[in-house]
Amino acid sequence: MKKHYKHLETKLVHSGEPEPRINGAVSMPIFQSSTFEYSGQSSYNDLKYIRLNNTPNHIALHQKLAALENAEAALVTASGMAAISTALLTLLSPGDHFLAQNCLYGGTHEFITKDFAALGISFDFINGDEPGAWKSKLRSDTKAIYVETMTNPLLQVADLKAVVDFAKAHKLISMIDNTFASPFNFRPPEWGFDLSLHSCTKYLNGHSDIVAGTVIGRADLVEKIKHKLNHLGASLDPHACFLLHRGMKTLAVRIKHQNDSTLKIAKYLEEHQSVEKINYPGLESHPNHERACELFDGFSGMLSFELKGGVEVAERFMQQTTLPVVAPSLGGIETLITRPATTSHSGMSPEDRHALGISDSLIRVSVGIEATEDIIEDFEQALKV
Ligand SMILES: *Cc1c(COP(=O)(O)O)cnc(C)c1O
Repeated sequence: MKKHYKHLETKLVHSGEPEPRINGAVSMPIFQSSTFEYSGQSSYNDLKYIRLNNTPNHIALHQKLAALENAEAALVTASGMAAISTALLTLLSPGDHFLAQNCLYGGTHEFITKDFAALGISFDFINGDEPGAWKSKLRSDTKAIYVETMTNPLLQVADLKAVVDFAKAHKLISMIDNTFASPFNFRPPEWGFDLSLHSCTKYLNGHSDIVAGTVIGRADLVEKIKHKLNHLGASLDPHACFLLHRGMKTLAVRIKHQNDSTLKIAKYLEEHQSVEKINYPGLESHPNHERACELFDGFSGMLSFELKGGVEVAERFMQQTTLPVVAPSLGGIETLITRPATTSHSGMSPEDRHALGISDSLIRVSVGIEATEDIIEDFEQALKV
């Protein structure tokens, strides 16, 4: 009997696992075979082959990922950008128009602004907080609307319910990059989004040792995107499938700790006299706090802040800390710290960064699973210098 599980913690461990277990193996084995014996398939996309995203390792992940967000279907990809670019290339054709939030992940922003023109796709950026202004950007050929659950690095939360309503009213496909929240904190299909995208490199895998991505949502759309992925070839290797599968099982225990720890660190920083400004949606002082409370089950392990005194003070703080690793990326078990002006947002001009409210001295932290007290103690000594 196919088992159905109620809670996310249980689904992470048990959903999608093969029934019966393969030779009794408790952990999903790695099927390191590029091709599989022909068994009468009549369509190209049904031949069993790693690039066609249908080996036992892929299928188990697809079922587990779909279950996590209570969605119809899911697809794993070779990276988060593979998920995003393949989904957009599937849904948009020459002549189509596209609406996207104005402060996207760097890779997504570059893909839209640098590659869309040659593909004959036009776009407009929207402010996620001003639904009243979206209609003026709408065109008869607008096909999709694209947002992120929490913006990087200011952790702003757009009016996500308005995005879904707007998409339904104007027959657009609604897409959301849910990487920062992870399925533990937010499940877009439950709120009516057509597609939820993740960089599994971050929280889903959680161990900073692979890149991977996923598209989760409506079965008809996921099927089309899978066929496009079969053509483009950005399929996840079985060994990376195995690592993602293993990493995902602890998502709930990791995120619970990271949510709690990050709220404590945010409160500590908010009280500190050297801190000018702190951005964390779990704080009452955050402009989108109420919206975040309504939508999310937790506020994530990401926060950003500014110290009094500008870039030099920020650099000195980062050098003085001993526990966090100074590195881009996020969502792993180790605390990472970075200055977005030098990493994720270095491609933007200072003027564009400032227009979005990202100062050059802003510090972003991805809180890991270390003891909260150790992180705070380290920040305390670094702030004294
Ligand atoms: C990292 C990231 C991506 C891209 O994912 P890759 O796995 O690096 O390709 C997309 N969106 C967000 C929000 C990210 O943080």
